[in-house]
Amino acid sequence: MADANAECNIKVLCRFRPLNQSEIFRGDKFIPIFQGEDTVTFGGKSYVFDQVFPTNTTQEQVYNACAKQIVKDVLGGYNGTIFAYGQTSSGKTHTMEGNLHDPQGMGIIPRIAEDIFEHIFAMDENLEFHIKVSYFEIYMDKIRDLLDGVFYAGNSENTGCTERFVTSPEEVMDVIDEGKANRHVAVTNMNEHSSRSHSIFLINIKQENVETEQKLSGKLYLVDLAGSEKVSKTGAEGAVLDEAKNINKSLSALGNVISALAEGTKSHVPYRDSKMTRILQDSLGGNCRTTMFICCSPSSYNDVETKSTLMFGQRAK
Ligand code: ADP
Ligand code: MG
Repeated sequence: MADANAECNIKVLCRFRPLNQSEIFRGDKFIPIFQGEDTVTFGGKSYVFDQVFPTNTTQEQVYNACAKQIVKDVLGGYNGTIFAYGQTSSGKTHTMEGNLHDPQGMGIIPRIAEDIFEHIFAMDENLEFHIKVSYFEIYMDKIRDLLDGVFYAGNSENTGCTERFVTSPEEVMDVIDEGKANRHVAVTNMNEHSSRSHSIFLINIKQENVETEQKLSGKLYLVDLAGSEKVSKTGAEGAVLDEAKNINKSLSALGNVISALAEGTKSHVPYRDSKMTRILQDSLGGNCRTTMFICCSPSSYNDVETKSTLMFGQRAK
């Protein structure tokens, strides 16, 4: 059984995407130098993480290196959270979702869905599973249920969001497609919107042994964070500035929680400083598996943001 006092397990993984066409066309330089499995040198400074994924790393390699074990742990009764952090266009959604319906291009979430059901089918026949998923976003500290489309007040234990029972990976994918379609309907510019809200896919697994009546539950939050880029102080005003301040505040609240947990000595972990950290509280602390993807652009054009992203990841180590 999971031990609530177990040392919190935080992994920080860094992934660089390749240069894209417009960056190549513009003549941007490719900055990172990869050394070994866990080190990247960027602009003369070296950064060490649990693992560094160079630009040619496949979706399957990323999954095997990190999420595979988390699925086993969640089925074993642990809670977990996987985040993707980085500026807009750094590869967060590519890492978390990828190309949802392409076996090679699929990211972490669809692979997790497949893996969970593969494990379950191979397990003891006396085990009965109930798997529920929710899909919501946090925008300006408000929760929007992507399976319903309504803004909820919500609280830390119960977001009030729709929970869907799923019995196959296909049903999980249907829920994701439905949520993404709802997200599109509500906004005029999807790319801008998705860069300003945190999107959260929650998988809740309950199991019961029908012979012994022993129960076990675990849940996994999969979080595609809002873009971490700084909005230029001169350009932004009104609603855009409010959004930017809010994103900044919620990302730094997350950074503070993760670094307090990583230090392990602090008795006070500031979960209450943002909506997101309140919601994730029971999946970030002692009895948990936390993985943070630090998503980076390799381009000289983005070097200031990339350094800031790498520093954010270092704080969690
Ligand atoms: P974000 O969600 O951080 O804004 P995306 O995941 O949408 O960024 O990535 C921006 C673009 O770069 C997309 O077209 C995506 O397919 C591409 N991309 C991101 N990471 C990779 C990668 N590792 N390999 C190939 N293409 C990538
Ligand atoms: Mg995205």
